[in-house]
Amino acid sequence: MEEPAVRKKKYHKRLKNGLCPRCGGKVKKSSPYKTCEACREFYREYQRENTDTVNDLRRERYELRKKKGLCPRCGVPVGKKAKNFICSKCLKKQYKNESGAKKAKKRK
Ligand SMILES: [Zn+2]
Ligand SMILES: [Zn+2]
Repeated sequence: MEEPAVRKKKYHKRLKNGLCPRCGGKVKKSSPYKTCEACREFYREYQRENTDTVNDLRRERYELRKKKGLCPRCGVPVGKKAKNFICSKCLKKQYKNESGAKKAKKRK
């Protein structure tokens, strides 16, 4: 086990070098995240496991709506010719959540 102080030092050193603070792996320059893809995937899996029952229900509804050509998030009909199966409103929301606030400002 590492001392918390040592860990903290390491964390900041990695951040400074543009590396993933969790594992020290490389992070894509274009990525708005601090952590690398592998670590983010790990967290995603971890969270998914923690809310399995809720997610099962959600996933079922999601797939059903998708099949019907509805936005899986809010149930609004999405055109069959649409590039995305999510409606533009939810897509915007998702984009906002995924990209950092800094990036969103830049785009404007
Ligand atoms: Zn990592
Ligand atoms: Zn929607």
